[in-house]
Amino acid sequence: MPRALPFVAALTLFLVAGPTGAGHGDFIRVVYQAPKKSEAQEIYREMRARRVLEGLREIVRMVRLPRSLTLRLSECDGEINAWYAPETRSVTVCYEYIQDVWDRAQKATSPPAVFRHDAIFGPVAQVFLHEFGHALFHLLDVPVLGREEDAADQFAALVVLRLRPAQARQIIDGSAVLFTSYGAEEKLEKDTLADHHGPFYQRLYNLLCLAYGSDKRAFGYLVDRGDLPRERAENCAAEYDQAAIAMDKLFRRHLRGGRMERERIRRGFRWAH
Ligand SMILES: [Zn+2]
Repeated sequence: MPRALPFVAALTLFLVAGPTGAGHGDFIRVVYQAPKKSEAQEIYREMRARRVLEGLREIVRMVRLPRSLTLRLSECDGEINAWYAPETRSVTVCYEYIQDVWDRAQKATSPPAVFRHDAIFGPVAQVFLHEFGHALFHLLDVPVLGREEDAADQFAALVVLRLRPAQARQIIDGSAVLFTSYGAEEKLEKDTLADHHGPFYQRLYNLLCLAYGSDKRAFGYLVDRGDLPRERAENCAAEYDQAAIAMDKLFRRHLRGGRMERERIRRGFRWAH
């Protein structure tokens, strides 16, 4: 019997390694968990019909992942949240979070140029990309200097800014509506400042600054409209360049073709437009 052991061990090894292949384990699973509560049904159906997770999977595929990753939409017992869980290597966005985005989009009055559609799908794109940021820092062992929450926001913004300006604008403007809505309710007390996330208004200005810094013509309206203060705007091109160079250096060797493929990102975000 002991003689059979090496064979069994080798076979087991083959079976475990087989489906993912050595070094090419970028198996990305998408899961739309069917919600029990009736409130979440509409969102569930909408997300499935738009093939949101399949689109996002297309974007994640620009990276060669060493291990599998799951993208999940799920019911979370009323919790308005989204997260990346390293132990299960899964990104989860709760239907409750999308419901909250949805509700806030109905109430949002400013800026008036933002369509309700963008106020819903912009933040959905942003939150998934933010969580992908966390996932990639972990899975690729990418070093993070500074707060990881800020780095994840920067990652999300830099991916969005690879889109054509008109498309990027929809996601940036939509996300700005959400951050403004949360920011208006946030009290700058010790608890807020002690949190590992920055205050929402700060996250908003960081986002707008990267957008403006990436293309002053395409995003000049942010300054003209007063959404981004001129004092901050002055240095945004340098801020963008610094972040884009860091991103390129940290991720290049993990990207297919050594670069963020614009066409793949465009395809992956079709559902958001
Ligand atoms: Zn985060």
